[in-house]
Amino acid sequence: MARQISPVCRLCRREGLKLFLKGTRCDSPKCAFERRESPPGMTTGRRSKATEYAAHLREKQKVKRYYGVLEKQFRKYFGMAERTKGHTGDALMVLLERRLDNIVCRMGLAQSRAQARLMVTHCHLTVNGRLLNIPSYLVRPGDVIVVKTRPKSQNLAQVNKAAHGRDVPEFLSVLEGPEIGGSILRLPEAADVSIPVQTQLIVELCSK
Ligand code: SF4
Repeated sequence: MARQISPVCRLCRREGLKLFLKGTRCDSPKCAFERRESPPGMTTGRRSKATEYAAHLREKQKVKRYYGVLEKQFRKYFGMAERTKGHTGDALMVLLERRLDNIVCRMGLAQSRAQARLMVTHCHLTVNGRLLNIPSYLVRPGDVIVVKTRPKSQNLAQVNKAAHGRDVPEFLSVLEGPEIGGSILRLPEAADVSIPVQTQLIVELCSK
């Protein structure tokens, strides 16, 4: 009998790549994407050939799901990226990468972006010494993110840090010492984005 797959994991299968939406489970043999019977990119069902529009849309959906942003927010980021000098697609990814919930996740303080978002909204963190509960805050170089000293916050962050099995990207540094947190060394670049994405397809779709 086929094993049940959660709706979240089904998104990874649909997109044909791991979106890392379920924390440590994503790095374990329990990951539904790793357990698939057919190799990535191949389907066993009757799936019609994707249209050009579908390929463009799929790329956009992939990015929205990975960062957990809705259409309205995504459009806002795209507008900001268009007004930025340089390649719009790269600017878009850099903006998304700068979101506080993404940074908290990439520092290893949360096991997924969804959990990072909750940690921010539930006031477990401070940014530059001030409580900040806005997951969409765009970090800047020099920002310091620290877990609050209350036991509940510390325990949660410690468990997540211990479970975190991925490398912390080069544009971030992890605090050494009694405080749990990290700082932003520089702005992220397109090369720091950890999912493969054809940004040109998104630009073509959203520019219409
Ligand atoms: Fe599920 Fe995570 Fe694996 Fe995706 S990467 S299939 S969310 S366990």
